[in-house]
Amino acid sequence: MKGVRTGLGIGIALMLAACGGGNSGPSIPERPDLPLQIPRTAHQVPRVDLHGRVRIGADVAASAALLTPGPDHGEIRVAYGMVRDGVGAQELTAYLQADAAAFQDAGQDTTDVQLLSDGLILRFGRTPPTIRLAAGTSPVFIDETLRVVQAINAALPRDWQLEVAAETALAGVSRPPDGEILVTFAPQAEWPDEAMIDEAIGLAESRYALGPTTDPDVSLSIESIAGRIWVDPLLTVGHERLGVIAHEIIHVLGRNHVDAGRFPKTLMVAGGSEEVPADILHPLDREALLAVYAHLEPGVTPAQLAEALGPWADTSLHIRGELDISGGDIAFGTALRNGLSQPWAVGPTPQTDLADNGALSGSVSWRGRLLGLTPHAEAVSGDANLTLELATLTGTMDFAELEQWTENTAPGLIGTGTMWQDGDLSYEIEVQGNAFIHTGGDAGTVTGAFFGPAHEGMGGVLQRDDLSAGFGGKR
Ligand SMILES: [Zn+2]
Repeated sequence: MKGVRTGLGIGIALMLAACGGGNSGPSIPERPDLPLQIPRTAHQVPRVDLHGRVRIGADVAASAALLTPGPDHGEIRVAYGMVRDGVGAQELTAYLQADAAAFQDAGQDTTDVQLLSDGLILRFGRTPPTIRLAAGTSPVFIDETLRVVQAINAALPRDWQLEVAAETALAGVSRPPDGEILVTFAPQAEWPDEAMIDEAIGLAESRYALGPTTDPDVSLSIESIAGRIWVDPLLTVGHERLGVIAHEIIHVLGRNHVDAGRFPKTLMVAGGSEEVPADILHPLDREALLAVYAHLEPGVTPAQLAEALGPWADTSLHIRGELDISGGDIAFGTALRNGLSQPWAVGPTPQTDLADNGALSGSVSWRGRLLGLTPHAEAVSGDANLTLELATLTGTMDFAELEQWTENTAPGLIGTGTMWQDGDLSYEIEVQGNAFIHTGGDAGTVTGAFFGPAHEGMGGVLQRDDLSAGFGGKR
């Protein structure tokens, strides 16, 4: 990174991405009936309310009908296979080139024409930013920001994840240090003068620095190194507001506006996406994040894009399990595509919080299975057992007898694989409403939920550098 210049003279169009207009798409879920998220949950996978069902992780599940059935693992019906479910190299390349071209206009009336004449695939510095909320941000807005961060992090590689600072900014602080993105929820009248743009409901402002490029003919490129975001909470409500927050954060992560006619399925159109998906980000938004932060070298130029991206798969490898509980079924598994493993679990929403289930007391256990994939596409399976003390709403999540099979082959019967690592993992967990997260134990992140009207089932996901898995079980 060369010397930091804040006044690059690349114009207000680049500095300020104002996002006006109302999104009047079909409305999706009002505020989900889920526990409020706090900063330390930034690395948990999203929990998505699907009206009657709740999902842990992204919407990447393949239906069992598209997969090949494998041998049952106990009560779990196992399925495995490849499914074409990605946006593909052609669409992703076209999107990133359109995005890069948006900088050519921004560069035209500046002294840095040279820098931007070929367009720019902008990225945030070399290390992931920390999101910091402005002083006095209410718990509801902290929760909403966390949901957006979880949705973005689910699309990013494990070694490039957004952080959320545990403390809000000090009162009066308006300039974030390098490496931070300051998020302020305030009526537009309180935004800075230069940010006053009619009808904007959100605004992103990046600070830039110069970095080296991978193109020998181009000596310098521009990177974001800090950013400020404002969202007017009076002009946007409910799920749409999550889309606005995500749109602004993705601006600071480098993406521009693209033409809504050509790319209708992205959050990054001026005025906001027509429809904010239940998962907040569209598949194209997620694949663009993965490409920029896991596959493209910093400083790559638009001309190098297709080559730099390499083979970009539009098919995912899936492993999936399903079991019946009274009141419905639970499904779980993992999808692996372009190096990103995305574990998931889904099941019926309970009627009450676990703590309010009068039929349960003392120590309660759920038993089931884990199914996942290593980064090398080796199938992994094992026991998944949750034991809870209802008095404290804490307990342990144990994975045992973990075994693996050869890469790119379906799992066989229980006992036919070879031991995975040392065969078991254990996590201390705590319950929040009808969800649970790990609080200690082995390396990795556990995010789970209770399923069924009376908590007859449980499920969730385990994320580690060496394993990505879904799990499910019954009481
Ligand atoms: Zn915008």
